[in-house]
Formats: sequence, structure tokens, C-alpha cells
Amino acid sequence: MTGAAAARNVVVLGSTGSVGSQALSVVRSMGGRVRVVGLSGGSRWRDLAAQAREFGVEAVSVADREDALRLRDALDGCGTEVLWGAEGLRRLAGWGGADVVLSAVSGGVGLPAAVAALEAGKTLALANKEAMVMFGPALMALAREGGGAILPVDSEHSALFQLLRSVPPEEVARIVLTASGGPFRGMTRSELTRVTAEDALRHPTWQMGRKITVDSATLMNKALEIIEARWLFGLPADRIGVVIHPQSVVHCLVELVDGSVLAHMGAPDMRLPIQYALSYPERTAGPVERLDLARLGGLEFCEPDFATFPALALGYRVAREGGTSGAVLSAANEVAVAAFLNGEVSLPGVVDVVEDVMDRHSVEPAAGLAAVMAADRWAREEAQSCLHRP
Ligand code: MG
Repeated sequence: MTGAAAARNVVVLGSTGSVGSQALSVVRSMGGRVRVVGLSGGSRWRDLAAQAREFGVEAVSVADREDALRLRDALDGCGTEVLWGAEGLRRLAGWGGADVVLSAVSGGVGLPAAVAALEAGKTLALANKEAMVMFGPALMALAREGGGAILPVDSEHSALFQLLRSVPPEEVARIVLTASGGPFRGMTRSELTRVTAEDALRHPTWQMGRKITVDSATLMNKALEIIEARWLFGLPADRIGVVIHPQSVVHCLVELVDGSVLAHMGAPDMRLPIQYALSYPERTAGPVERLDLARLGGLEFCEPDFATFPALALGYRVAREGGTSGAVLSAANEVAVAAFLNGEVSLPGVVDVVEDVMDRHSVEPAAGLAAVMAADRWAREEAQSCLHRP
């Protein structure tokens, strides 16, 4: 894209969620450079109607048919096409007028849409890390073969993507993902068994949706990010490290063969990776607060506690095994997190369920979307029976 090029047309999937609504605020701050042509939401159809009117989009999609009918009434006279369900999400992901599809949906439901976007040759700005965890190698191949591209919107991976652009692959020794450690850093397992959903939803440094906030508390989010990095950057598990960094200001480290280390720093604000994905390959001025290291005073780093947070080891296991193991980890985790939020299982119990389901699974090659979605369904059922086993 050249400097004075026409506006880039964007579809935002999951626009009523945390990253989705921040993406719309980034679009507002980018003036006319980005135009929103499609939006999807889950069940918050009123919010979606307001967004659709503000941006004058061509199409919207919601999860259920009933909400689609309400949305159709709310958008009467706007000329906006109203879609629904998995098919609506897929159609929006392949929308003819879109250049970029920013997928900020949460969970495995986003995978078919990610595939559809890449099959249509779109640039996929991917905040939906579960899609990469479930089907990473295939998504990378689709991007290569279909003329599309994948731009990570996860803060650590956006930072890695930015750093790795300037380094020849043979100079990279390893990468290190930083983790805030979540709200329960330093706790013992028995202390963790007593934390409530309300405790877990208070994250110290990042404002995020409910599922990812619980994932941050168990460190499953970092496990998902290890797997995400495995496929995005083609690095084996033993060249991906994790370090705890409570301030969330250093987003990642790239260690070079000579021992030099590159760090990417910035305020812990999702608008930065979102804006980078929407303006890529350019970098533009924006509204995010400047990092003031002197005011911050100090940065801390320490080893993660693998014993208290066993999710990390599961992330490495999937990064080594590949195949259907990513879909199984991700789906079992979704079910267990929902159970935790309903008070049906303890926080350490969430990871126990995921490990149980993984132990019962015999990993197969991820041979196509249907096979991966079948592994996803199997894992959801297994996780349910683990949760209800006496
Ligand atoms: Mg992240």
C-alpha cells in the first residue's frame, strides 16, 4: 500500500468484545485511512446495531437467528445485510469488499472464519489465538498459497512479528514470551483452589474479555501463546522461552546467536498491536500513551512457576506434538473455563480437566478443517464428562 492509497476496507469479527471495540476505537483515531465494511458480534445485538449505524457497514452477523431478526428491525432502512450463525461469520470473513479481516472472536468458533478469510486471499489480523492453536500449520500454508497474510494481534506476537522483520532467521537463537504472571503470581496451589471467578477477573495490567482473563490467571493464556508462536514463526518448542514480567511493558525478547537480545517495549495497551496490524506495513502516529520508564522506576523478571501453573507444560506439549493436540487443549480449556466462571470447578481444576482430556486423546494429524473440528467436539464432550465425574 502506498502513502496516499485508498482507504483499507476492514471487517471486524467480534466487534462487541474487548479487542473488537478497541479495534473500532483505533479505526476512529485513524481518520479515513481505514473503512469498516462488516461487523460481527455474539449476542449483544444492540451494541452491534449502534456500531453498524456509526460505521455504515455493508453487513453484520450475530450468533443466533432470533437476534438477527431483532437486528434486522433495528437496522431497517440502513441497507445493511444481516447474517447469523457460523455461516454468517464465514460469509463476513470472505466478504468481497474487505481487504483485512480482524478476527477478535474468542475461542474455537473463530477457526472456520479464519480459514474462510485466508481462502478468500484476505489479510487476517488475528487476535483469535485459538484458531492458530488449533490449526496453525494449515493457516500458515493457506496464507502462503492463497495470497493472503496473517498479522498477529496478540501483543507478544505482534511485538515478535515487528522484531523478526529486521532479523535474518539464521541469526535468531530463541524467542522469549513475557507473561505478567496474572493476578495470582506467587500463590500456592492450595491458595489457588480458593480463588473465585470474581478474583480471577481482576487482572493487574491488561483489560480483557472474561475467557482470556481466566486464561491469564491459570497461565493457559501463555500456553496458548507458546503454541501460537510455534506456528506463526516456525520455531520448535525448545527455542521458545517464557519469563514472568509483572509490569507487562516488555512484550517479548528475541535472543540472537551472538547473545544480543532485542526487546519490544510499549504501554500495555491492545490498541498498539491493533493499530500496527491495520496500518501495516506502515507505522503511524496514534493515541496510545508514551512509555515513561523513569516514572515506572523498575522492571522485574523471574522464572515461571511450572509446578503451580502446569498449563505451561501443556503448552509445550502441544508445541511438540502438533496435530489435533492443539484443538483438544483449546476446546477442553474453553469448557473448563466456562465451568469455572459458573463456580463448578476450582481454578487449578480447570487445568486438571484439560490435562485429563489430553491424556485421553490419541493425537492424529490435523488433516483438514473437518478433522480439527471433530477433535474440538470430542474434547468438549470429554471435558464435560471429566467435570461431572464423581
Ligand atoms: Mg498476549
